[in-house]
Amino acid sequence: MPGPGQPAAPADECDVIVVGGGIHGVASAYFLAQKGQRVILLERDDCGHCASGVNAGGVRTLGRKLAEIPLSLASSQLWRTLDFLHGFDGAFVQTGQIKVAESEKDMLVLQERCELLAARGFHHEKLIDRQQVREIVPAIAPHVQGALWVSTDGFAFPYLIVQAFARQARRLGADIREQSAVQSIKRKDKTWHVSTKDRIITGEMLLLCAGAWTADLARLCGDSIPVTAGGLMLMVTQRMPHFINPVLGATSRGLSFKQFANGTVVIGGALECEADAQTNHAELDFSRLGNSARIVTDLFPFLNNISVTRAWSGLDGYAPDHTAIVGPSASQDNLYYACGFSASGFQLGPASGQYLAQLMTGETPDPAHQGLLPARFA
Ligand SMILES: Cc1cc2nc3c(=O)[nH]c(=O)nc-3n(C[C@H](O)[C@H](O)[C@H](O)COP(=O)(O)OP(=O)(O)OC[C@H]3O[C@@H](n4cnc5c(N)ncnc54)[C@H](O)[C@@H]3O)c2cc1C
Repeated sequence: MPGPGQPAAPADECDVIVVGGGIHGVASAYFLAQKGQRVILLERDDCGHCASGVNAGGVRTLGRKLAEIPLSLASSQLWRTLDFLHGFDGAFVQTGQIKVAESEKDMLVLQERCELLAARGFHHEKLIDRQQVREIVPAIAPHVQGALWVSTDGFAFPYLIVQAFARQARRLGADIREQSAVQSIKRKDKTWHVSTKDRIITGEMLLLCAGAWTADLARLCGDSIPVTAGGLMLMVTQRMPHFINPVLGATSRGLSFKQFANGTVVIGGALECEADAQTNHAELDFSRLGNSARIVTDLFPFLNNISVTRAWSGLDGYAPDHTAIVGPSASQDNLYYACGFSASGFQLGPASGQYLAQLMTGETPDPAHQGLLPARFA
């Protein structure tokens, strides 16, 4: 019992324990709290400290793996309609995303992609010709022949988006505890007991969304999930006059880049590097960064003399099929996962949180997301 005048200790019992305060943890906490669930979220550092706070902020349905498309389209809807993701510096901006074809071969690849999507009932990626590309990106190099275009995609400032979700989740009653690394997990009498250095939290359901570290936590639950850590790099240039609106990628060369309102250009696009999950370190590979910069100058030759001012890296959890893992454990009751986002999980955060909240509260979920279930690896 607290003494007179002392605040009551926070309750350690809840309905759902969420582990990980990245975009997937905070979005899940928000949607679960909205459904009246008592949520305690445990984050080792600060929310948004890892991939969700340092990524390129690309909000992309374009070029998704087939199994991810329904979740990505549902997320696109949420990015455009959730009020608290709009109206501040760094909020979601709907600039569109474009993937350019640099050769006839690239054009064929894009055409086949469009036909494949149409055969599956997806029509969000539009094939556009040389002239239409120039209407959207007037500064593009002459060799570009066409592109795929999604006008409803865009980008956002990732750290601020994580904070926005965390704030809303707290407002709805979610108890978000930072500096609370999970050390052990046990199951007793159908209840999860999750220990941090000074508390034991109990809950009926457990959601693991700990990015590159999810497999370690799954092992503590007596389960296994095939997620491995991978490193990703980004670099940013000096400020320059505004020359491009959409986020731009290439078809046969790994590239994604965007220009922020302040004039800087962020360059990435699944630029992988060596990573060590133990030390939370991903080693910058300057020769790969150089190759990426060359693709940018091929597409925009006038950027040849622009300086790169900073490069950084982060870790993400990779699934063997490079496709998100979202849903219940195949072997343990009341254990759920959101992980394995393999370099493109930021955009999926809102819909993944909403979908998990539906699943965990017994609502009939959208069967279109079944391709993401952990059971595919069982
Ligand atoms: C450089 C880079 C660029 C990227 N660009 C894009 C992009 O443009 N668009 C896109 O869609 N995606 C992008 N991604 C991928 C995207 O950032 C990730 O897929 C996504 O953020 C994963 O979110 P998460 O919540 O699953 O994991 P994370 O953000 O990694 O969060 C997991 C959290 O779990 C916590 N945690 C771990 N272990 C414990 C423990 N024992 N106890 C408590 N907490 C723990 C960590 O501290 C961390 O905060 C990029 C990633 C990187 C690294």
